[in-house]
Amino acid sequence: MKHSASTQLWVGSPEHLSGQVVALIQKEYCPQQACGYCAICKQIVAEQHYAYLTVSTTKSAYARADLETIFSKIAFQGSSEEPRFCVITQAEKLSAACANSLLKLLEEPPAGWHWLLLTDRPQELLPTVISRCMVKEYASERDGGTRELYSFLTTLPLGDIVHFQQILERAKLSDYDSRLLFDELLAFWTKKPQARANWIECLHSFLNYQPMPGSSKFFWRTIYLNMHCLLAKES
Ligand SMILES: [Zn+2]
Repeated sequence: MKHSASTQLWVGSPEHLSGQVVALIQKEYCPQQACGYCAICKQIVAEQHYAYLTVSTTKSAYARADLETIFSKIAFQGSSEEPRFCVITQAEKLSAACANSLLKLLEEPPAGWHWLLLTDRPQELLPTVISRCMVKEYASERDGGTRELYSFLTTLPLGDIVHFQQILERAKLSDYDSRLLFDELLAFWTKKPQARANWIECLHSFLNYQPMPGSSKFFWRTIYLNMHCLLAKES
């Protein structure tokens, strides 16, 4: 099994990754290398440029029919001066059957073609797909705010709720950022020898209660309040 730089798996939040895809293709095709204003740059943003095709699905998994455009378009070869890009969003939704139909193409993309598989849930991807990709992890652009919230929630004594609210507002967490931050917090507190068992138990209970889309502020406020009750008193 081999993978080439032409087959990449990008891991990060969907909004951030789609911005990265646009930037990459603009750099290839815009005469001013991604000016952002010319007709070509605008076509690329509107997903109307001939150099790439994007597949996406609103269903819980891709069906073979969703990939038909790939099979029909990919016959038109690109070249090193005119690279073509095939973008599969939410690559974790590739079922085993879909993935199998793609494996050969992922392994040896037709001349001039580049695969960009995007995901924010790499743990759900099939190993047969991952092993054929060069994996790139993108930190969220909101990393600064996430770090601030992380240090707030890992420092005792815990700050007051007004300060917490300000940090939470500034952090502007996406659902993806929230999941990553929660995993980091859990890892931090589980390793702390002096952390009280009831707090760790409480954090674990949040594992079954990950933020629903759009509810991450509520999620973090609940965590803060629980933390306040369980930890702040003893410090
Ligand atoms: Zn341009």
